[in-house]
Amino acid sequence: MITLRIIGHHAIYPVSDVVRLFFGPIRMRDTGEIQADCDEDLEIISQLENIDIDGTKLQSQRLSTLINGKCICSTTIEELPLNREVKRSLYNALSIYTGRKFPWGSLTGIRPTVVAREVTSDTQLNHLYGVRSDKARLSIITASHEDEVMRKINKSSLSIYIGIPFCPTRCSYCSFPAHDMSSGTDTLNEYVEALLKEMELLQHLFQNIDSVYFGGGTPTVLTDELFEAFINRAFSLLSPNAGVEVTLEAGRPDTITKSKLNTAKKNGFNRICINPQTLNNQTLRNIGRNHSVEDFLKAYSDIRQMGFNTVNADLIAGLPGESYSDFTISLNTLAELKPENITVHSLYKKRTAMLSRDEVMKAVSMEDIDRMLQYSHNRLPELGYIPYYLYKQKDTLGGHENTGYSFPGDECRYNVAMMSDAYSVLAIGAGGVSKRVFSDRRLVRCDCVKNPAEYIRRVKEMAERKLRFFDV
Ligand code: SF4
Repeated sequence: MITLRIIGHHAIYPVSDVVRLFFGPIRMRDTGEIQADCDEDLEIISQLENIDIDGTKLQSQRLSTLINGKCICSTTIEELPLNREVKRSLYNALSIYTGRKFPWGSLTGIRPTVVAREVTSDTQLNHLYGVRSDKARLSIITASHEDEVMRKINKSSLSIYIGIPFCPTRCSYCSFPAHDMSSGTDTLNEYVEALLKEMELLQHLFQNIDSVYFGGGTPTVLTDELFEAFINRAFSLLSPNAGVEVTLEAGRPDTITKSKLNTAKKNGFNRICINPQTLNNQTLRNIGRNHSVEDFLKAYSDIRQMGFNTVNADLIAGLPGESYSDFTISLNTLAELKPENITVHSLYKKRTAMLSRDEVMKAVSMEDIDRMLQYSHNRLPELGYIPYYLYKQKDTLGGHENTGYSFPGDECRYNVAMMSDAYSVLAIGAGGVSKRVFSDRRLVRCDCVKNPAEYIRRVKEMAERKLRFFDV
């Protein structure tokens, strides 16, 4: 077992991120110690102390990481803010001790593109954070494309997220609060009513919209009739003008019908996401999705025939049982269809998902995921795609990233508004987190109950909370 204590500083969360990166889930003890499972017993101390410089009275601070009583890494605080220095020291010590390095080095808990904007070169990212050179270059290129998209978004406008947290079945790797519809659809009608009620109450906020994203879950899980009634009413409340970007997440191909596409087209959706995750039928069965590759190709063709010009398709690197060559075949087959956006995720796993972390670790090699992502980063630009947003999640295996690629000019503004934390986002529906960004760049969040039944009961209260949050 690992036991980590901190002495002389309070950077417990930064330290936890690094322990999680090396050893998986952590436990925080009442004593302030952090514990994680490990085959050997390791006592780690992260310590900050004041020191005299060369025996003079001038004070500096020294940060040390000790493992089993031996100092592995010791530096004076000079280059980075304390939180980042603490992570760097612990990361370096654990790298030396375990012989393991991660592609993003000690860069955890912060978006790589944020840090990429602070440095002058990819070499500096490597020097300060241990970021591998290919990842350093990726984050710098992505930051510059993300900046271009951000220049197109009006700071005073609002992005809106409308969430339908239901799916036809639950994917084995799912860590979102999505509800499996296989046991019945009774609550869907009531949930949609509640969503429309919330939208009516929040209608004052729909004056200056930049983008709207209907996400989930899978919004197209609604029946044709319910989808049409819901979308017609939602659009009449939103009344988006021609320049507003409106995205429909139709993630599961088995939920897409011509009727729903027709409803979406008639109302003015200008982007559709369809997410095969892999183009390998065996993997699709393994992960609990009840559609096939052929279903995806059929749905994709219907989307194009209906005249949608901007399509996003997601793939996941590291699905259980998938080899490097399975992934590259999926990527190349998907790219032949020329969707305007391809998002490459790396498998993200929380304790709530059906697969345990150990099961995932056994089913997939970290090195293979790394190779899959490297392949995407090399191959997609060859095919004309540019990376325009990038983020990491805490429990992503091996500390890998998710990257959104796009043909130039087809980037999704909602994704950038949401990921950059630079714009206000109103989230409608159960589990959505609204964000408000002030002129001094301060960001505050407002959450909403996660359980759909509770949301239905408390929808008025949730709407009033958001009206107060946005000062209406
Ligand atoms: S489609 Fe997405 S939200 Fe739905 S169960 Fe699968 S991973 Fe979860």
